[in-house]
Amino acid sequence: MSKGELLLAIDQGTTNTKAILVAKDGRPVFASTAPVSLRHPRAGFVEQDPLELWTSVTQVAAACVAHAGTRGIAAIGITNQRETVLAWERGSGEPVAPAVVWQCRRSASICSDLERRGLAGMLRQRTGLGIDPLFSASKMLWLLENTPGLRARAEAGEICFGTVDSWLIWKLTGGKVHACDASNASRTQLLNLRTGKWDDDLLRLFEIPKVALPEVCESSGFFGECAGVEGLSGLPILSAIGDSHAAMAGHGAYDPGKVKATYGTGSSVMSLIPDFRVAENGLSTTIAWRMGGATRFALEGNISMTGSTVQWLGEFLGLPEPASGAAKLAETVLESEGVYFVPAMVGLGAPHWDSAVRGAIFGLSRTSTRAHLARAAVESIAFQIRDVFDAMEREADVSFPMLHADGGATHNHQLMQFQADVLGRPVMRSICPDLSALGAAWLAGIALGYWDSLEALGKLNLDSQIFEPRMPEIEREQRYGGWKLSVERARHQPAQNLETEKTFGAAEKQHAQH
Ligand code: ADP
Repeated sequence: MSKGELLLAIDQGTTNTKAILVAKDGRPVFASTAPVSLRHPRAGFVEQDPLELWTSVTQVAAACVAHAGTRGIAAIGITNQRETVLAWERGSGEPVAPAVVWQCRRSASICSDLERRGLAGMLRQRTGLGIDPLFSASKMLWLLENTPGLRARAEAGEICFGTVDSWLIWKLTGGKVHACDASNASRTQLLNLRTGKWDDDLLRLFEIPKVALPEVCESSGFFGECAGVEGLSGLPILSAIGDSHAAMAGHGAYDPGKVKATYGTGSSVMSLIPDFRVAENGLSTTIAWRMGGATRFALEGNISMTGSTVQWLGEFLGLPEPASGAAKLAETVLESEGVYFVPAMVGLGAPHWDSAVRGAIFGLSRTSTRAHLARAAVESIAFQIRDVFDAMEREADVSFPMLHADGGATHNHQLMQFQADVLGRPVMRSICPDLSALGAAWLAGIALGYWDSLEALGKLNLDSQIFEPRMPEIEREQRYGGWKLSVERARHQPAQNLETEKTFGAAEKQHAQH
């Protein structure tokens, strides 16, 4: 075990990889970030390069090692974008496919088939998740069916499938450990939430060889020791947890009745629940984390495009720095003047779960400008969060007093104020921009014996900033009504023929034989 004292937490996200150092008092002392790129080879397809993800991790970790200096690092924690699927050779560690990113809709026809076969209820009961290309299982099946030779090699035990945490654990341990944590596993649609184990029936349904999957571990505990990575060798990996779940831990909002939203590339709204139950109202049930032998469950609603809407609009307008440029443009006007932007470029997630709908802009008039469009893009984030916030209140049968907010897009004051206005509740923005990383560091520190429990850390009262609602109720409901109407209209556009490609042939044939 290392003699260092700081905790190094890595947050591998969709747009950025971040790393922070956390001191023994539970507070962050240093942060480093590196962008990662996304590829869109076809409409609806979203990919990343597994090796680029890894290189970005080594970059931010190296910056932290340099900053730690003689204080040294005691242990590593990992948090990550979820649902994204990677596949690599067990022998060489070489990726055999691009990382299929959570936003990717390539497995839409697989999902339509599952839907047609009436499997939605069974899947929801076992996994807490509805049918949607978001979740990893259909992405794995797509790779097995569309990568020549992959199925035979996977069945022979030559291939590892994994979520991003398992890829990083594999790389950090020099290929010795193939493991993921329970929160990441719960987003694959292959984990039975009641048993906490990979579900053999679901593995058969999705035709995924169990031998290819990682071992499911507790979110806080020993995963393995780093090997062959400069500056990190010998350090224990003591936590792994999905980014949204880690942010929940970082907020210290551990009581049911509290709710948080993470504003990254997409968004996740999450609230802990006392016990497992199957969610309705367009929400999922998920494992928040598993530690000390106990599993905590949460309600969750996922939104596919929030921060990335602003990025998309900046690119669309040809701005040199798309995200910050579009955000600045939006600040030049006080409102969108009736323009609504429904950013359904990869379909709509919670609470609508409509993967066929595509993006739409409504309410343009002769006086509309780029700035109104930019403002509508920013406002679409807040409206989408309200959709899920309302669904969550119905599901939990509570009135949430406020919203806890974190993630890259919360730097945007205009967004935070508009969010409070549109909810009619205060928004408490975390001052720590890397809250997911902080949560992962806390879980690692608990495994190391620095702290007894998350509850003790939650009392740290990290600085935060409150945005109070200022908009009159009549205006709030009028604007939100306009949004809801826009979503309905977007969902009635002519259907796009993006999902007709037949990719489920082999699976269908095999099921027909049974
Ligand atoms: P991830 O963890 O998914 O990589 P981050 O938390 O790093 O995401 O946040 C990055 C996202 O925040 C990007 O989609 C980017 O477009 C968005 N973003 C960055 N700055 C702003 C801003 N000022 N206003 C709104 N969105 C922003």
